[in-house]
Amino acid sequence: MADIDTFDHGLAALKAIVGDGGWLDQPGDMAPFARDWRGGYDGVAALVVKPRSVDQVVELVKCANKYRIGLVPQGGNTGLVLAGIPDQSGRQVVVSLERLNRIRAVDADDFSLVAEAGVILTQVQEAAEAVDRLFPLSLGSQGSARIGGLVSTNAGGVHVLRYGSMRALVLGVEAVLPNGEVFHGLTPLRKDNTGYDLKQLLVGGEGTLGIVTAVTLKLFPRPRDVVTAWVALDDPDKAVGLLAHLRAATGDQVCAFEMIPRIGVDLTLQHIPDTRDPLPGTPSPWVVLTEMSSTRADSGLREVAEAALAEAFERGLARDAVLAESQAQGQAMWKIRETLPLAERMDGIGLHHDISVSVARMPAYITEGTAALEALMPGVRVIAFGHLGDGNIHFSVHGPLGMTPAEFYGRAREISACVYELVLKYGGSISAEHGIGMEKREQLAATADPAKLWALRAIKTALDPNGIMNPGKVV
Ligand SMILES: Cc1cc2nc3c(=O)[nH]c(=O)nc-3n(C[C@H](O)[C@H](O)[C@H](O)COP(=O)(O)OP(=O)(O)OC[C@H]3O[C@@H](n4cnc5c(N)ncnc54)[C@H](O)[C@@H]3O)c2cc1C
Repeated sequence: MADIDTFDHGLAALKAIVGDGGWLDQPGDMAPFARDWRGGYDGVAALVVKPRSVDQVVELVKCANKYRIGLVPQGGNTGLVLAGIPDQSGRQVVVSLERLNRIRAVDADDFSLVAEAGVILTQVQEAAEAVDRLFPLSLGSQGSARIGGLVSTNAGGVHVLRYGSMRALVLGVEAVLPNGEVFHGLTPLRKDNTGYDLKQLLVGGEGTLGIVTAVTLKLFPRPRDVVTAWVALDDPDKAVGLLAHLRAATGDQVCAFEMIPRIGVDLTLQHIPDTRDPLPGTPSPWVVLTEMSSTRADSGLREVAEAALAEAFERGLARDAVLAESQAQGQAMWKIRETLPLAERMDGIGLHHDISVSVARMPAYITEGTAALEALMPGVRVIAFGHLGDGNIHFSVHGPLGMTPAEFYGRAREISACVYELVLKYGGSISAEHGIGMEKREQLAATADPAKLWALRAIKTALDPNGIMNPGKVV
């Protein structure tokens, strides 16, 4: 990378491209762009630039190549693996896409929408709804996460069970590649078999292969009948049985199936204002929050769901359940699930593992993983929650009450090794939906299939020979 003199020239050139009002260089102003959402890591940015146009992004990338300056693309900075923030060298420049924030087109007949990288997810959802369509991606950070970040992390969320993750929702991508060329891939085509799929390399690329400037997204018919249920049950085994039962009994209308342990519900009720237990009389060890939906207003889904749940009680799969009577009640149930990561952050010390194994093996994984951690650290608090319908659990490990952060984090490697070794034993993935970033780079290198690692590194070197795109992330 550049020596100091050239580096300073490079920074001045980057500032000139975006002009006054388009950059920040004071430590206090840059700090929020360099801080991890969980607050556990502070990077150091050399500069923050906020391009207003694709042309400016092109010039920034060309300039970074000339001066060999590392660029870190950033959207809403809600990522959870230290991927969208600079390292601590003070030599990397954050490229915030927040000013590239137009919805360029919405086509109801084509079931597609074109959004720039800086558009916030809720704005896309609203734009789709305005033309009576659904953009189904939905997650706890949707009020802050931006389309470029969501694409670059291949975000999942609560509706993957029916609609797939971002990879399945992106039809086309426009991006500035590491050599400064624009990839004009904003197609609405559903089928395009013309060679390697560059779009899919950028989806989940975590900003290491280019800067996404806009995407074409897939829309769906809007659900008109939605049933949200909060179900009390004994254990994850029962939850897996309930999922299969509800899918069959409702004509596969289940679009979300989230599981939370009692400790997770209690943590949220304790820390998040305006939350209440939907089933205060049945404090079961586990709960499932499930959503079923139909595009027909007269689908009779509520009666179908009630009958299916009654059968689930008879079969011992569930203890009790409550169906939301209104949209507001449904939203109150979802608030408990969606603010759980925030409640965890407020609780203080914890280690978070976003893992997947097959749906059927998840109960055994949770049981074995919890037992192994309890043996390692008596009193440890495991909060295994999330997208059970996709075989994806956020396996959070919180220290025993009273343990100091220094003591707990001193054993972080041991704890995470225990979680990941078991994931591999179960044939799972060390990153289900959050990505690799700086946080899991070592684990990826240590555990990935050698042929896959070779190919990932070859692709990175071929597309970004100067290593300017998000250096130090993924590979
Ligand atoms: C409360 C909470 C709940 C969450 N729930 C979920 C969930 O259910 N499912 C899930 O998958 N994730 C979840 N996340 C994680 C996070 O919201 C997602 O990873 C999201 O996709 C990040 O979007 P962002 O705009 O904040 O990206 P950032 O954090 O800014 O960046 C993420 C990555 O994308 C890259 N990037 C950003 N913009 C661009 C661009 N224009 N071009 C190229 N690269 C770019 C960055 O360099 C970085 O590698 C959650 C986070 C929080 C805080």
